[in-house]
Amino acid sequence: SVKLENVWRRFGDLVAVRDVSLDVAPGEILCLLGPSGCGKTTLLRLVCGLETPDEGRILIDEREMSGPAANVPPEARGVGLMFQDFALFPHMTILENVAFGLQAMERNTALAEGRRALERMGLGAYADAYPHVLSGGQQQRVALARAIVPRPRVMMMDEPFSGLDPRLRASMREETLAILRETHTTCIIVTHEAEEAMLLGDRIAVMRGGEIVQAGTTQEIFDHPADLFVAEMMSEIN
Ligand code: ATP
Repeated sequence: SVKLENVWRRFGDLVAVRDVSLDVAPGEILCLLGPSGCGKTTLLRLVCGLETPDEGRILIDEREMSGPAANVPPEARGVGLMFQDFALFPHMTILENVAFGLQAMERNTALAEGRRALERMGLGAYADAYPHVLSGGQQQRVALARAIVPRPRVMMMDEPFSGLDPRLRASMREETLAILRETHTTCIIVTHEAEEAMLLGDRIAVMRGGEIVQAGTTQEIFDHPADLFVAEMMSEIN
């Protein structure tokens, strides 16, 4: 589970995250929906420890990660990341890229795990090639394999399917959902598209100006939007 309690993050005079409280249950997929600049990425960075809150607490599986009593470094949080700029390491083979997250594991075991993940993605034949031979969509699948292979308990995804054509986007979405369900991974997915949030999330949290304006199931938010802003956000769904 992921829990935020009254979390604030400021950059100078700008309040990027304003008094956010949020609960993501074990195995739940929560979509963070909002326009550009509303603080979505900052929120993810706070959860994975790349940013420190000015106030408030962040707990993962009930353990305080950020707050008055703790500041656990990112690598000790057990949080997987798949970010928009998913860049693979160009000087490493595709298999080495995927096995990169398995540093704690014995090398041969790590490579075997990596190979299995690539096969699952239909990319087994490319294990020993370098990333530049792959298409954008294939690179994104490798990035997904790299993110899930260490079996994180919690996963943060920032616009994971942006830049893909609609067909690839749909298949990546399905693949990702299947994996997250199978592994019972708690996940927050950032998107600025209501339709994507609806397709991926068990629940949606709508953000504006650093605040969460409303959180609930798609149906709840669609039927009872908290205000005009939320109603307009949801009206993109057809
Ligand atoms: P997008 O969808 O465009 O990525 P976002 O919702 O993820 O936007 P954030 O990237 O979290 O928004 O940014 C929220 C606000 O905080 C923005 O106004 C941004 O300019 C500001 N901000 C983010 N990081 C920093 C930083 N390191 N220093 C100063 N300002 C920052």
